[in-house]
Amino acid sequence: MFHKILIANRGEIAARVIDTCRRLGVATVAVYSDADASARHVAMADEAVHIGGPAPKDSYLMAEAIIAAAQATGAEAIHPGYGFLSENPDFVDAVAAAGLVFIGPSAKAIRAMGLKDAAKALMEKAGVPVVPGYHGANQDPEHLAGAAETVGYPVLIKAVAGGGGKGMRLVERPEEFAEKLESAQSEARTAFGNPAVLIEKYVQKPRHIEVQVFGDGTRAVHLYERDCSLQRRHQKVIEEAPAPGMTAEMRAAMGQAAVRAAEAIGYSGAGTVEFIVDASDGLRPDRFWFMEMNTRLQVEHPVTEAVTGIDLVEWQLRVASGEPLPATQDEIRLTGHAFEARLYAEDVPAGFLPATGTLSHLKFPEGARAETGVRPGDTISPWYDPMIAKIIVHGPTRAIALRQLSAALDATEVAGSVTNLAFLAALSRHEGFAAGDVDTGLIARDLDALTDVAPADMTVKALAALGAAGLADRGGALAGFTLWQPLRRTVPLEGVEAVVEVMAPDRARVSIAGETAECFLRGGQWWVDGHPSGARIVVTPGLVSIFGRGAHHFHLVDPLDREADAAGGGLTLSPMPGLVKAVFAKAGQRVKAGDRLAVLEAMKMEHTLTAARDGIVAEVLVAAGAQVEAGAALVRLEEEA
Ligand code: ADP
Repeated sequence: MFHKILIANRGEIAARVIDTCRRLGVATVAVYSDADASARHVAMADEAVHIGGPAPKDSYLMAEAIIAAAQATGAEAIHPGYGFLSENPDFVDAVAAAGLVFIGPSAKAIRAMGLKDAAKALMEKAGVPVVPGYHGANQDPEHLAGAAETVGYPVLIKAVAGGGGKGMRLVERPEEFAEKLESAQSEARTAFGNPAVLIEKYVQKPRHIEVQVFGDGTRAVHLYERDCSLQRRHQKVIEEAPAPGMTAEMRAAMGQAAVRAAEAIGYSGAGTVEFIVDASDGLRPDRFWFMEMNTRLQVEHPVTEAVTGIDLVEWQLRVASGEPLPATQDEIRLTGHAFEARLYAEDVPAGFLPATGTLSHLKFPEGARAETGVRPGDTISPWYDPMIAKIIVHGPTRAIALRQLSAALDATEVAGSVTNLAFLAALSRHEGFAAGDVDTGLIARDLDALTDVAPADMTVKALAALGAAGLADRGGALAGFTLWQPLRRTVPLEGVEAVVEVMAPDRARVSIAGETAECFLRGGQWWVDGHPSGARIVVTPGLVSIFGRGAHHFHLVDPLDREADAAGGGLTLSPMPGLVKAVFAKAGQRVKAGDRLAVLEAMKMEHTLTAARDGIVAEVLVAAGAQVEAGAALVRLEEEA
């Protein structure tokens, strides 16, 4: 076993790898960018090396800097995690050339699976079923149109160099073919510098079922399947193992095909063979086809770990350090059922826009596994994937595990950024999902219902008012109940006109818009109008959050605060963390409402910040090139004299 390894990644996967290293007594070296100097993975590692700027191309993609860091710290091997350099064969070659071990497959195996057309041809030869279609070299439009006719409509055009759904087009009728082909090719040329495409039969009612494999360079075993059919725009949302409705016959066929795929390329380490399954007539062994192989550890690997009891990172380290496969196929057992939900900082009602923010409060459920790269107080920056955590549950049956997932999501608390928590919770209660009737179109079909978040009701607003009045304390001793405070007061909640009358340390009446709620503190929780609220009140600076009845957040208004000035239009604040690209405002300048003051780059987009009202620029508080936090004051206006 290695004495010390370097982890060429960040966030939850870097933390995940470090966890196993600690258990195995392997010392760890983290690498980090400017944006991650105080990140969780850096704090967890035994050593950490700064490698560059916040943009991935200046740090986590800098192969040379990462290899130099490994050499300087005496690390013997590099774990690439997923994403970044994990599937880059040139990096694998460079690691070997530097005399270090790459914890993963050979560069040759990665190259073999790198292009979809070559991979399909290779798999076909190895006896792995591939989606019917054309994946040859002839890229003449006439020829491809003919191939589509032969395959039969509807067909899918896919970029051979594709990834992330780019260069992919569904064609339902022959008369659309030419136009869709052109747009797929041009997107592929822009995204991958390679316009070549392949044609595939479009599978009806598709399910995404993938098989975890593990190889030692010669032999491979499989660790059963995962179902990743719950997708939104080809991105996985909730994954599970095993696949619902899986039969012994189908499982054996898929497992064997996956092992053949891995052995055909002399695979070493953890990999995933992705299949597309036609589920229009249940799961049938003649209706699954190879899609692609991911030559790395997969985001959703924990569900496989839960049902097999195997630590895949431990296996990666053992096999990379020269040990044989730790178990034979017969020794790998499947027990119970597991789910993983991906918790993201994203604005669901705004179309799942990535979000950023400082996580003023963060609490994961007890009894579930939470894989995370952040701690309370950490920031989700605009530079990287906005994942907050993966929540994983394992139960004896699918129904029980799904209930555990719902409960775990209800018990998860995040304040300081919008999240997809309510969406995940709604999905965990979806009837079709509960019945195991999943396919890749499920989320899109029911998107409205899944994203329709119940607005705050009177109970939630009353609890928020109690929180704002300083009555959140569930311990019994009420922080807000002091004799010098007025017993009846208006609380400073944005958007809610609430009056709280404190009658006793454990009793209060809240009035909101003519309605009143009688509140009692009993057994550590507030009861509202005779019913236990089932909710938790969390107060962080400037914010009251109510959890347990969905998640609701209310801003606190401080009349002395800058925000009030901002509300009057006097201050322009940065709406999110980002980079100030340009500043147009100059002190003394007269501006009109709507005039451009600055441009902020955040989440890979440019946002123009404008004056909220007419006025004169009193102060410009930032310069172009500055990195700013959410809420940072950028420009102050004064009233026109
Ligand atoms: P990418 O590499 O761009 O992510 P994939 O080939 O992995 O593309 O396909 C992404 C998703 O598209 C799959 O998970 C599946 O939902 C859908 N898909 C792919 N191929 C087909 C097909 N032949 N028929 C129907 N859906 C497909």
